[in-house]
Amino acid sequence: AAERLTKDDPQAKAMKYVHDAANSDQAGDGENCANCALYTGDRSADWGGCSIFGGREVNTKGWCTAWASAG
Ligand code: SF4
Repeated sequence: AAERLTKDDPQAKAMKYVHDAANSDQAGDGENCANCALYTGDRSADWGGCSIFGGREVNTKGWCTAWASAG
């Protein structure tokens, strides 16, 4: 399996990434990696790729400041 992004990663910190959007005071209602335009994985999986974090996988419940609507 691909490496998972950790919240200690410098880029993750810079982008305020969290594994659970509920733990972010910046994430808007309903925003998470599973419905982000930059998410590249299976949207029904627990983890998957993100185009801004290289080969690392992010949690589909997660969030970061680059979130953009996939809709
Ligand atoms: Fe999640 Fe989107 Fe941020 Fe990637 S860019 S970590 S998919 S919110």
